[in-house]
Amino acid sequence: MTEKKKFHSVRGVRDILPPDSSLWNWFEQAARDTLETYNFREIRLPIFEDTELFARSVGAETDIVSKEMYTFQDQPADLESANEMGRGKAVSLRPEATASVVRAYIEHGMQTLPGLVKLYYLGPMFRRERPQKGRYRQFYQIGAEVLGQSDHPAIDAEMIEMLIVLLGRCKIESWTLLVNSIGDANCRPAYVALLREELRKVKNQLGADSQRRIDTNPLRVLDSKLAEEQAIVASLPKIADHLCDDCRNHFAELRRQLDLRSIPYTVDPRLVRGLDYYTRTTFEITSPHLGAQNALAGGGRYDGLSEMLGGPPAKCIGFALGEDRFIEVIQAAGSLDRATAGRPLDAFIVWLGAAAYPAAVRLARRLRQEGFRVEIPAEESKLKKALSLAERLGARFAIIVGDQEVAAGAYAVKRLADGEQRKLAESDVAGFLRG
Ligand code: AMP
Repeated sequence: MTEKKKFHSVRGVRDILPPDSSLWNWFEQAARDTLETYNFREIRLPIFEDTELFARSVGAETDIVSKEMYTFQDQPADLESANEMGRGKAVSLRPEATASVVRAYIEHGMQTLPGLVKLYYLGPMFRRERPQKGRYRQFYQIGAEVLGQSDHPAIDAEMIEMLIVLLGRCKIESWTLLVNSIGDANCRPAYVALLREELRKVKNQLGADSQRRIDTNPLRVLDSKLAEEQAIVASLPKIADHLCDDCRNHFAELRRQLDLRSIPYTVDPRLVRGLDYYTRTTFEITSPHLGAQNALAGGGRYDGLSEMLGGPPAKCIGFALGEDRFIEVIQAAGSLDRATAGRPLDAFIVWLGAAAYPAAVRLARRLRQEGFRVEIPAEESKLKKALSLAERLGARFAIIVGDQEVAAGAYAVKRLADGEQRKLAESDVAGFLRG
């Protein structure tokens, strides 16, 4: 007989098994609860979109779009929607969700809604990055976006406050908040020109990537991770010294808003984003418990994106946090173990004899209706064996349902932690389990 091929998950993706999945659920609920108290509401977005949407919003030149997207030709449903090659259009698994949120904002005319539009999403994102610790090809983000007619720094600060509150809820005590302003269409072009000029002077001391970026995207040289480029990067002009009055005031007010919320931060002049529609505030939260990939969350303003996608003018700010990394930090801290481990098995029903089985089934259903986690074996086994399985499953109670118990109308309920046993009528079992 030939050996059957065994399958493994695809490189860079993984399963999340119990009991870890309980912690994931706990975290997602904590995030939802926190975001809802700040009056954000959930938007459920598609997993894939037109490739063109990401090319335009994330940027065709970025690594994410140029190298990392999972893109395929959709099958045309009819001849009309097929392109000239006779194929459907290109669609991509989403590498991030801001583009989808703005697409939805425009598509559903949300600019007519009263007040600010505050949306959050959660779910998997896909990027074909080189897999390493803390970096997956399918990873999970929770993100929030505020879209509307105001770009007041209080909105930015409140969004950051919300993240800090979530960190607290997760008992994550060590973190660093980095903030910066990257100016706007008024002041950034002159800074980028100056930066390009300075970079040209030191071009031959830079690596190939940075050399290329002098022309394509000089701001990105600032977040270079190459050890040999660090001294040069530190000596480059800083955008903070080149902001226009409006941007400087906006950044000063952001810092004042953080101060009044008692949120500590570090100004990091290297925290930049390369695309034109990003404006002013950028921020990132890092953790010392993560390795090289130490960003827990990142965000910033993107006041130009809606118009870039053919929509109405909108002032927007958003963030995305990495669930995989939050979970890793929560697990490393170990402080939430009990709260998040998921409920144990409450009761294991040991039934003995075919005549007792209907009563056991009825009891199981009744306890489950009361919200208990209950296991009832499909097949009968010996008492000793059944009790041993109940223990190995971590059950809190074993309930013995045999012919005699059914006849007497009382079941033997045994607390496995201390062996205490009671004879209880069906209607009294739930109370004992609860106590
Ligand atoms: P970004 O959309 O790149 O700004 O990422 C926002 C957050 O998502 C980061 O701060 C990380 O926590 C998380 N993240 C981004 N890429 C990955 C990845 N490949 N694997 C795991 N988490 C990621």
